[in-house]
Amino acid sequence: MTENRVLVIASGNQGKIHEFQGLLSGLPLEVKPQPEGLDVEETGATFAANARIKALAVAQTTGHWALADDSGLSVSALNGAPGVHSARYAPTDPERIEKLLAALLQCNERSAHFSAALCVAAPDGAVLLEVEGRCEGQITKTPRGDQGFGYDPIFEVNNTGRTFAEMSLAEKKSYGHRGRAFALLEPLLKNLIAVD
Ligand code: IMP
Repeated sequence: MTENRVLVIASGNQGKIHEFQGLLSGLPLEVKPQPEGLDVEETGATFAANARIKALAVAQTTGHWALADDSGLSVSALNGAPGVHSARYAPTDPERIEKLLAALLQCNERSAHFSAALCVAAPDGAVLLEVEGRCEGQITKTPRGDQGFGYDPIFEVNNTGRTFAEMSLAEKKSYGHRGRAFALLEPLLKNLIAVD
């Protein structure tokens, strides 16, 4: 019997690693976290560029295929900000929310989208797969809900009337940017493993 191929999750975030291990559990892969202490700088101008930088660096360092993601919130009235800077927009989640609501205080055009880019790369520098999932919504005037994390309480998903923070995990997965990106990735990854 041939051994399953190793896929390293290019993230130091335990929550993310756990989430991906769950999502990938149906595939014939040995899913591993990236080595401790490896920190790849996110210098890209887009979510896709950052996912690619991380996947390539971890694949080259470990000698295995690597899967990386990059995500964030882009607000139309702010020309796409905070975008790739979503995690660094302010020091804490409540401060990030406060800053974003203040930036939109006089603004009625509140459309925004979450994006999640995923990339699978190989140790020889080949980019094997790239996908991007999006979720369209509106920035609310005040936070609502207590589920989730980050900007969830101020992002109302179009045609639902609810913020991400008012949704169960299963609902967020079906409407959300990461769930959508993964739904795009899964069949492609299955094919890639089959022809490998
Ligand atoms: P990264 O993808 O780990 O680089 O971080 C993306 C940042 O975007 C997070 O720290 C959050 O601030 C924000 N973000 C990404 N996805 C979500 C989400 O599903 N809900 C709320 N905030 C998110």
